[in-house]
Amino acid sequence: MSNLIEIIDLEIDYGIVKAVKGINMSIPKGSIVAILGANGAGKTSTIRSISGLTKVKSGKIIYKGEEIQNKPTFEIVKKGIMQSPEGRMILNGLTVEENLLVGAYTVKTKIIDGRNVTRRRQILGNLNEVYTYFPILKERRTQQANTLSGGEQQMLAIGRALMSNPDCLLLDEPSLGLAPLIIKDIFNIVKKIKEAGKTILIVEQNAKQTLKIADYAYVLEVGKIKAHGKAQEMLENKDLIEAYLGS
Ligand code: ATP
Repeated sequence: MSNLIEIIDLEIDYGIVKAVKGINMSIPKGSIVAILGANGAGKTSTIRSISGLTKVKSGKIIYKGEEIQNKPTFEIVKKGIMQSPEGRMILNGLTVEENLLVGAYTVKTKIIDGRNVTRRRQILGNLNEVYTYFPILKERRTQQANTLSGGEQQMLAIGRALMSNPDCLLLDEPSLGLAPLIIKDIFNIVKKIKEAGKTILIVEQNAKQTLKIADYAYVLEVGKIKAHGKAQEMLENKDLIEAYLGS
């Protein structure tokens, strides 16, 4: 399987704080790759550097063969990478559907299989797809986003990221603050999104549930990769789970 993203010797500093200290990662096309680790390990810095939200000090981020480190976020989005941020960043004053439409701002009329497919048509197609994954969002589409539960808001954040039909979805702590059953529901949908052909990079503190849906995982500790491997094997490695990922 070829790699959609390659991270090479990535370093990120915030002044004197060295958040990421030279890491290497491969994200194969069509897979779910997880970045696990405790608070402050450098997970969010890493994922935000891919979407251009955090400056890279040194190293390379290669996407579809092209270096994208330190490119502006709008260019990275146009290339097909979309992030669902930590804390969801829902626009409370807008309805559920308006929030979703915000995610489609980069969609343009284009030629698909020799046919001119209008912007409107693509957006409707993307909206239908999001509503297929998250039927509750369809039910609540005219509601103000701030009336949603935490789990529904997380679904909205992921749905909004899907509205540009990205090749690569970056998810920053989608389980944050949610009850275990809701996390399970959301993670099952993330797996379905992968099965539909997307590549997903997920940052999580909730190691066990993430390893159940991921193909491959990296464990970060104070800016360095402490372990990596196939998710299934990591899940069965009790020593590793105890050492780095909580019991
Ligand atoms: P969390 O789960 O808390 O988001 P994380 O693993 O995602 O943790 P980062 O948020 O990437 O870790 O933080 C890595 C290190 O960089 C931490 O020491 C953190 O305090 C520091 N850091 C993160 N953002 C900034 C910033 N904007 N300015 C200064 N230091 C920062």
